[in-house]
Amino acid sequence: MSSSTEGIIAPKAGEILTECQVCDAAPPVPLSLCGGCRVVYYCCRNHQLEDRPAHKEACKEIVAAKAEVEKAKRELLGQNPDIFTPGPQNRFYGVFCSSGTGPTQDYIRTLTLCSKALLLVKTQQAVVNALAINREMLRLERRGIGAAVHADQAIAPLLIRLDRDQEAYDFCAWWQSIPERENADWLTSDKERPMLDLHGADPLENMSQWFGEEAVSKNLIRASSVLLILARLFFGFRMALEIQKRSPTLTTAEVLKKTAEVFPIDILQRHPEWLDVAENREKLVKEIVIGANIIASSIGQYNKWYFFFLENPHEKSKRARKSIIRQSTPGSPEEAEDAFDLTHDAWLATPGALDLVMGWAKSSGLRE
Ligand SMILES: [Zn+2]
Ligand SMILES: [Zn+2]
Repeated sequence: MSSSTEGIIAPKAGEILTECQVCDAAPPVPLSLCGGCRVVYYCCRNHQLEDRPAHKEACKEIVAAKAEVEKAKRELLGQNPDIFTPGPQNRFYGVFCSSGTGPTQDYIRTLTLCSKALLLVKTQQAVVNALAINREMLRLERRGIGAAVHADQAIAPLLIRLDRDQEAYDFCAWWQSIPERENADWLTSDKERPMLDLHGADPLENMSQWFGEEAVSKNLIRASSVLLILARLFFGFRMALEIQKRSPTLTTAEVLKKTAEVFPIDILQRHPEWLDVAENREKLVKEIVIGANIIASSIGQYNKWYFFFLENPHEKSKRARKSIIRQSTPGSPEEAEDAFDLTHDAWLATPGALDLVMGWAKSSGLRE
């Protein structure tokens, strides 16, 4: 394991997504990275200068947040044994749970703030880096050294923004499958359970686990993420059906390929059988709509503020946060605000999804 945070707060090889912030020029046009935040690209000096007034503030905030991460990290590395080396001989191992205080808590706090700062920038690279930070927080929490309450909520919406719907769904389904999280120590006490070992889960198979207020109450953000994944699946499915109808001679593989060129369908691509059998198609689309409708109604009933803020972002209160991680009452506007902050950009990344889902949430016909 590397002891440098470079990998989590700067691009790693193979993860670099480039496009000029101003004119969208992409490779083979040579691009250069903003030397400050390292998450924004430009094709030329002029475009960098042009973007400077808009970018300056976020850039400064990211640079400062990264410096704080490094500082907190240095403090931890000064301990002997250092906290990043796992093992029962390490006095830190397993002792810092959600209630911990001191340097580990500081480190997790700086990572949370760094993730938030990065997300002020809307580039894919910023999302990739924020995702890496949240994964690292999760890994640290798993080792019982931090309070990464933020990370397990932030990850699914970030994966959706990167069009990694299957991973996002797997992530949500894994957490939902964990029994009551009432006990904050569960990560510590259940360390033997493999972490996030669910891959390729079928969102249509166990949709009902997201139904009802009780299911939503486990985590509003994950329920909302699953709803968005279903909306995206619905869009992709309908697009594929349209292409299939217009060009009946295409094979299923060709239909999926054509659809993927215009819309992210990584879940649908795993299930060519959904398109193969004519009788299945309409039935499955209907199933998605009915299921998503129930989830949308469940979310609306659990916290009426959440959809209200998504539909009226300007209504979200601007009051300053006292704490970066706050305990909010189920159903409260504060809970909805936190959920909004982590999910709004994911909804924006899929034009039409919110309207579609609001239609589902409001049409009580299928629910009653
Ligand atoms: Zn440019
Ligand atoms: Zn910058």
